[in-house]
Amino acid sequence: MLPTNPTLPTTYRPLAPDIIAAYNRYRPSGPQPLLCYVPFSSLTFSFKGKVHACTYNRDVVVGEYPKQTIAQIWQGTEMNNLRQHLLHHDLNYGCQHCKYFFEKQKFTGLKPPYLTHTPTTPTTHTRV
Ligand code: SF4
Repeated sequence: MLPTNPTLPTTYRPLAPDIIAAYNRYRPSGPQPLLCYVPFSSLTFSFKGKVHACTYNRDVVVGEYPKQTIAQIWQGTEMNNLRQHLLHHDLNYGCQHCKYFFEKQKFTGLKPPYLTHTPTTPTTHTRV
């Protein structure tokens, strides 16, 4: 179950509530608890084995394949750090690409739009 009103530690810098509200009005699927569900549903692999949460978050390397197993990467510290940031509406953990479009309220520029719009069930993220 997603937290709809997470307690914000001082280390998180969430997106402004008016931007979140505007995005939720824009979403084809209607309002959702989180801005992005990508780190709860997918990984992206480079040819050299670096693993990222998504194509647009290149600053955070969440693992290295095949040095690590998929399960180790999926359940690893960096993936969980990114998930925690998104659970707190904080796009300052490598999500600058999307942060730019959110802050400009240019929601059509968000990539990949089908993933940022569509909720998955984060409780599945412990399964690999
Ligand atoms: S907010 Fe954007 S950059 Fe961050 S994980 Fe989601 S789709 Fe990727």
